[in-house]
Amino acid sequence: MADQPDSPQEPPARQQPARSLVSHQDVEDADDILFAHPPRVVRRWLCGCGADYPCPDVRFALLVKSTAEAGE
Ligand SMILES: [Zn+2]
Repeated sequence: MADQPDSPQEPPARQQPARSLVSHQDVEDADDILFAHPPRVVRRWLCGCGADYPCPDVRFALLVKSTAEAGE
C-alpha cells in the first residue's frame, strides 16, 4: 500500500543526550579503572647468547661470584 511508510528511519520517541547513557558513578568507576591500569612499557633483556637475560649460564656465573664474594 502507498500509505504504508517503508522508511526504516523513525524519529526517536524521546531524545536523550549521549552522556546520559552512563551515570556519573560509571564515569568515576572508569576513572578509577584507568588510574589502576596504566599502560606499561616492558623492556626485555636479551643475553648476548640470544636467550632471555639472565640466561642459565649467567645465573650460574652470578651465583658463583656472589658466593665467592660472600666467602671472602
Ligand atoms: Zn647467555
